[in-house]
Formats: sequence, structure tokens, C-alpha cells
Amino acid sequence: MQRWSFILLILALSVPSFGDGRLVVVIDPGHGGENGGAPCFDHSSEKELTLPLSQMLEVELTQRGYDVVMTRRRDKYLSLKERGATAIDVGGDIFISIHGNASRHHDQRGFETYVLSSRAIVHDAAVFRAGNKSFHNSMLSHFMASQTIQRSAHLANQVHANLRKMWGPSGDRGVRQESMHVLLGLPMPAILVEVGFVDHPIEGKLLKTKKKRQEIAMALADGVDSFFKKKTK
Ligand SMILES: [Zn+2]
Repeated sequence: MQRWSFILLILALSVPSFGDGRLVVVIDPGHGGENGGAPCFDHSSEKELTLPLSQMLEVELTQRGYDVVMTRRRDKYLSLKERGATAIDVGGDIFISIHGNASRHHDQRGFETYVLSSRAIVHDAAVFRAGNKSFHNSMLSHFMASQTIQRSAHLANQVHANLRKMWGPSGDRGVRQESMHVLLGLPMPAILVEVGFVDHPIEGKLLKTKKKRQEIAMALADGVDSFFKKKTK
């Protein structure tokens, strides 16, 4: 390996950037505008959970000293690409997409946390490489992609553990790997959280309450705290 590519690897390892700058958390309230998301038990839509919950998380994280950037602050449609572009433009240290779940028979409950599958990451690295023919750069993009997936998994585990503490173990549907398109191409740790089932008659009702939303926001913020504390140890 040439010296310059070794230096690039060291630079890649040094993220996130601590020091004078504050950590930037990008929150992505799922859906919006004409894209309502999943139908809730009371015929409202998922987007009516994701925005207020994301705003609660924003308040919580701001109080804890993070810089928070929201991909949207009002009820408007955003493409998945636009959401990712915001995260990249602001140099986000982490990215969290907030969603509510639904099932065919409205009988499922619980919470799930998603990270990109390694298959998606390999595809991602290939796309990245397509515009870049250098062998060393291709090694670097592979290396950075594997670093990002590991750190994303760590973030997912921390957030998920805190959701489990709050909801209880019976609703734990696990940390899962999928080709979540909103997470594709992001250079920072990125997760998608399904905080609960909006269409379940009991859980959906609970998700409407300010109290439960506040508890979820706290759990997510605790997860973010654990992720960064681990990194600074
Ligand atoms: Zn959703």
C-alpha cells in the first residue's frame, strides 16, 4: 500500500470529528406530504407519528449538547435521495430515520432497528467505485464501507437496547439487516428505527400519547449517548 493511501486510511479511522465541533445528529422523520406511510389503527397515517416524535428527539438531543439537523420540519414530501443528501451536506456524524410499523392483519407489535445489509454495502461500494477507477481508491471505499457498517451496527445495538429497556423484552423484534434505500450511500453510521406498530389497536393507541412518544424520544437519545460515549472511552 502506498504511503498516501495509508494516510487516507488513518484519516478514515479518525471519524467522527471530536474537538471543537459539536456532534451532528441528523434526524429523518419518515414519509411526509402525499407519502403518508403506514395507515394507523384510527385511519390517521404514520407521518403523523414520525414528525412530532422526531421533534421531541430533537429537543432531547439539543438539551444533551448535540447539533441536530432535521431532514424535514413540516409535512412535506421528500425523496429518499433528498434525505440522504441533507445528511451528507451538513456532515452528519450519525443518521437516524424514524418510522412506525404496520402488519397485514394489524396484529403485530414491537420495535425493530435496521442497518444496511452487507450485500447492500457491497453494491454501494461498487456504485461508489464506478466513478473512480483507481485501485487504491477502490480499496479505500471498501474499507470505509466496512467501517461504516460496523459503526452503524454499533449504533443500532445501542439504540435498540434502550428501546428494549423502555418497551420491555416481549416486543423485541431484533436488529435487522436490509437494503433500506434511505440508508444507501451514507458515509456516516446510519439506522432506521421502527418504533412500534401504528396499526395495532393497543400499541397504536399508545403511540398516539405524548407520554409514550416522550419515552421513546428519551430511549433513542439514551442510545445516541451510549454510542458516542463508547467511542470516546
Ligand atoms: Zn415508514
